[in-house]
Amino acid sequence: MSQPLDAYWMPFTANRQFKKSPRILAKASGMHFWTDDGRQILDTIAGLWCVNAGHARPKIVQAIAEQAAQLDYAPPFQMAHPKAFALAERVAALTPAELNKVFFTNSGSESVDTALKIALAYHRVRGEGHRTRLIGRERGYHGVNFGGISVGGMVANRKMFGAMLAGVDHIRHTHDPARNSYTVGQPEHGAEFADDLERLCALHDPSTIAAVIVEPVAGSTGVLIPPKGYLNRLREICDRHGILLIFDEVITGFGRTGQPFAAQTFGVTPDMILMAKGLTNGCVPMGAVAVRQSIHDAFMTGPEHLIEFFHGYTYSSHPLACAAGLATLETYADEGLLTRAQQLQGYFAEALHSLRGLPNVIDIRNIGLVGGVELAPLPGEPAKRAFNVFLDCYDKGVLIRTTGDTLAFSPPLIIERAQIDQLIDTVRGAIGRAA
Ligand code: PLP
Repeated sequence: MSQPLDAYWMPFTANRQFKKSPRILAKASGMHFWTDDGRQILDTIAGLWCVNAGHARPKIVQAIAEQAAQLDYAPPFQMAHPKAFALAERVAALTPAELNKVFFTNSGSESVDTALKIALAYHRVRGEGHRTRLIGRERGYHGVNFGGISVGGMVANRKMFGAMLAGVDHIRHTHDPARNSYTVGQPEHGAEFADDLERLCALHDPSTIAAVIVEPVAGSTGVLIPPKGYLNRLREICDRHGILLIFDEVITGFGRTGQPFAAQTFGVTPDMILMAKGLTNGCVPMGAVAVRQSIHDAFMTGPEHLIEFFHGYTYSSHPLACAAGLATLETYADEGLLTRAQQLQGYFAEALHSLRGLPNVIDIRNIGLVGGVELAPLPGEPAKRAFNVFLDCYDKGVLIRTTGDTLAFSPPLIIERAQIDQLIDTVRGAIGRAA
């Protein structure tokens, strides 16, 4: 790579390591990237858990190009364009039936903050403004804005940034390797971790709590699958105390667990589902929050000429994003991608769990088309062993992702069995070499 690399401060990247040995992607199609020197790389993480239909899908590419030529931008405040309504209808048709109002954002982080603000404002408009407390979960990842890092539970994402939002607390995480290691699908043990919410209710009084936010499957802290009955129990406790339940489905949305949303896979309906990534197949930044009708309706009071909810972004419902979103959802529907993980999950799980017994593999977790393989850290050097495996796989033509010492896989939903084999064979070799 001959161009200067100095000016670009890369996000969530080991900048000095990267710039010594850059990994530059120049092209993508279907299941693959190509590097700037022409090497083909199998994408086993759907870009960053977003390219669920695979790369450069013609319908989506064409929709974006046509939209840019026809209506490049339309102000979303007091104005709109047809595709914003059309996409909201399409999204509402995929979410659980009660969640039928859709607010657009530009990212997962913005969707998180939007959902938290809706929760606080909802309680206030209905005379419960004393519900100001927000509850997240240890090991949660909810993006990087101040709301998201406050309710999130990843130490490295929080410790540098001061006091964050006031009035936030956390329930404990559900990771319990002593009882649940090497579980295929949902772990048997741990529904009772949800009772930790009762502890916080007793501590703060439930009348002070506005909402609880969790990822149905935690991705960024190492693929943590909810124990059987856990999400149901969280729902029951929230109902008992008038607390809103928010699912962050930024990675689980759009087919990752075998249904359009994990809420459907696990049979638990929250009060809001927030999403991003797969909404536009990663092509144009976009997020959204799907909200229960009753929450939306609580805002629809007062004089009709006045704004009901003081929130929104210059690029909310951007025409290019809406065009990409509509073409994406059509592609998913045309190819049955939102349920395809059901057909592949058995094969994927078996392949993944065949890595059990390799040196330093200490746990394997999976659901739908998401999998995690946890490695024992190198003594005194956390995250390095997994990073070495990542570099080795990339060298051998396979892009994986790591979080701490966990290898994470979340391939495009178009992946074929032979590509699952290629992934597992490559990872097997790399784990061996990292021993
Ligand atoms: N929430 C979850 C569960 C995520 O996994 C992510 C990103 O990976 C986000 C929120 C933040 O999304 P974004 O990076 O689009 O802001």
